[in-house]
Amino acid sequence: MQLHNFNSGPSILPPQVLEQAAAAIHNFNNTGLSILEIGHRTSHFVEVVSEAQQIIKRLMGLDDAYEVLFLQGGATMQFMQVPMNLLDENGLAAICDNGVWGNKAVKEASIFGPVKVVSDTSDKKHTYLNKQLDLPTNTTYLHITTNNTVEGTQWHQYPQTNALLVGDMSSDIFCRPTAFNQFDLIYAGAQKNMGAAGVTIVVVKKEILGKINRKIPAILDYKKHIEAGSLLNTPPVFSIYVSLLTLRWIEAQGGLVEMGKRNNAKAQLLYDTIDQLPAFHCPIAKEDRSIMNAVFFLIDPTREAAFLDLCKKEGMIGVKGYRTVGGIRVSMYNAMPIASVQTFCDLMKSFG
Ligand SMILES: *Cc1c(COP(=O)(O)O)cnc(C)c1O
Repeated sequence: MQLHNFNSGPSILPPQVLEQAAAAIHNFNNTGLSILEIGHRTSHFVEVVSEAQQIIKRLMGLDDAYEVLFLQGGATMQFMQVPMNLLDENGLAAICDNGVWGNKAVKEASIFGPVKVVSDTSDKKHTYLNKQLDLPTNTTYLHITTNNTVEGTQWHQYPQTNALLVGDMSSDIFCRPTAFNQFDLIYAGAQKNMGAAGVTIVVVKKEILGKINRKIPAILDYKKHIEAGSLLNTPPVFSIYVSLLTLRWIEAQGGLVEMGKRNNAKAQLLYDTIDQLPAFHCPIAKEDRSIMNAVFFLIDPTREAAFLDLCKKEGMIGVKGYRTVGGIRVSMYNAMPIASVQTFCDLMKSFG
């Protein structure tokens, strides 16, 4: 039976990327060595890092004011590393709490300085985004989660602000062309649109660093990582290599314009199907719906288990909603073919 991988993360990767990664485990770049065995300071691997950095900047259309880092600890570590590097008692972090991940960013930032939650959408179970943000004048940075992976909302236009703008793009990075240059710091934990798990991309405008009054341990200091060319210590070599393969794949497919076309088509197909079928219901405000993660429900919750059973039987993987949200969540990352979304929609129609 053909499987359709709708996992929210780690999630589907392009088959070509998996084949190339598998080949490199046996023989990397004709070195006769495995990618798992080469030194991280060899020219072979230094080239991997620098090519990946270049592709990321090219895809994002960013200039040399920005640096690209490959760090560890996941997006979760960025919840503390961002405030540790940018926030002290003289400033303030304005954070949008639009779901599970934004909420964690609030908690961690509070350890390092004053925090104001400038948007809290829990009144409607995070089914919309509030775009009227009231930032105090001493705001150092505004933090948004560009795509709320768990709740199924996505910022389609970013807020304008005089403060620095920080974005957790873990689940929608490279999903379409977007105004990356509005941000001063972007981070994304692999693996959603880019794999494999074990690496976190941080893209940071250099000039914003070194402005606060705090001693920062070297391993957590963005400046130290920049000075070391993202090779401060042994990086996650294999994860970075698989990320490079994913980035090459995105460019070969036609870049972010093509990713955007495909992702919009998949999302439209799925949301149209949900909206048309009487058995299903998507509570997310139409203008805020995510093109990556669709969250929706059975009108009759007692039929949910039967629908999930049917999905399992038909090879639909990972479509059960997040434990605190329930319902159905279908993740349609870059590598997901529209044919799989079509198959899923046909299954929904057959369910009624
Ligand atoms: C998956 C995810 C995270 C958590 O990433 P880890 O790498 O597991 O720490 C954080 N933020 C968002 C938006 C995510 O989708």
